[in-house]
Amino acid sequence: MQQSCSMCGGNKAVQVGSSLQKCPVCEGTGKEIQPGLYYCYGIDIVLTALQALSNQSVQILDKPFKWMWAVAQSTGTFTSQVVDGNAKRPFSNQQIHSANAWGTAQNPFPLVQPYVFGVRGQIQVNITDLSNANNTVRLTFIGVELDA
Ligand SMILES: [Zn+2]
Repeated sequence: MQQSCSMCGGNKAVQVGSSLQKCPVCEGTGKEIQPGLYYCYGIDIVLTALQALSNQSVQILDKPFKWMWAVAQSTGTFTSQVVDGNAKRPFSNQQIHSANAWGTAQNPFPLVQPYVFGVRGQIQVNITDLSNANNTVRLTFIGVELDA
């Protein structure tokens, strides 16, 4: 449950001199800013040589998920395209080489703009092996769970 902003008490505005101005803490929402709690979603995929798979997915649980970093570990190179399955929104125009889209846990790839998947939403991945051998890919979507 979301609390009222501790600065404006939920009034969305604060008195500055003789005028009311938009609350600078909650940016006029009247709600306490919730930074969220650490959470990550994983998708593990096993590809055979040069195999392409569509719509590998994981369902978002009962809180919105703000995706902030992309991390992957794999036994070979691959291309991938992440899609918000509910909004049908792809994050790239085509599948992107693994070296250009995913970081490691020690050096994660930060999203230029974090993205919020809604409750019961779906992270989908279209993926293709480039290694011409069996390829075990473990994708990790790191971010925070927000209050629903
Ligand atoms: Zn406020």
